[in-house]
Amino acid sequence: MTDPRPRQRVRRTLPARKRIALIAHDGMKAELLEWAERWQATLANHALVGTGTTAHRLSRTLGLAVDGLMSGPLGGDQQIGALITEQRLDLLIFFWDPFAPQPHDPDVKALLRLAALWNVPVACNPASADFLMSSPWLDQAYEMAIPDAGAWLAERSDD
Ligand code: PGA
Repeated sequence: MTDPRPRQRVRRTLPARKRIALIAHDGMKAELLEWAERWQATLANHALVGTGTTAHRLSRTLGLAVDGLMSGPLGGDQQIGALITEQRLDLLIFFWDPFAPQPHDPDVKALLRLAALWNVPVACNPASADFLMSSPWLDQAYEMAIPDAGAWLAERSDD
């Protein structure tokens, strides 16, 4: 069987001002709000986007400017996945609920798969999110490797 993985890599540079997605399942929203309050000043220096309800709560409670997409169960996770695929997102903070099955579990899995594929840094709980926020790369350009989509297409069209 041929290996289905993209073999070639290209460089991608994350900008100093990051585009950060914030998502929390309902059972984790209080925890995300508490975490975001601690990092409010830092978050305010970056471009924030979130699934509908999470974005709305962050804006209302903390006054942060968060671009709200569709609510998660209505397709918001897939919209964030599309941003990742188009290299328009730099960090993902996603407090998914380890105790509650979600109606949109396939979307959640799809989003985490795309983040893993495209080498996007992900935090799933307050401690990992603390590490992302305190990284020296948060406010600097960061160079990393991602799959080479052009080479992948060329290889597969080569028959
Ligand atoms: P919400 O979506 O922010 O609209 O609640 C989050 C999710 O369930 O993925």
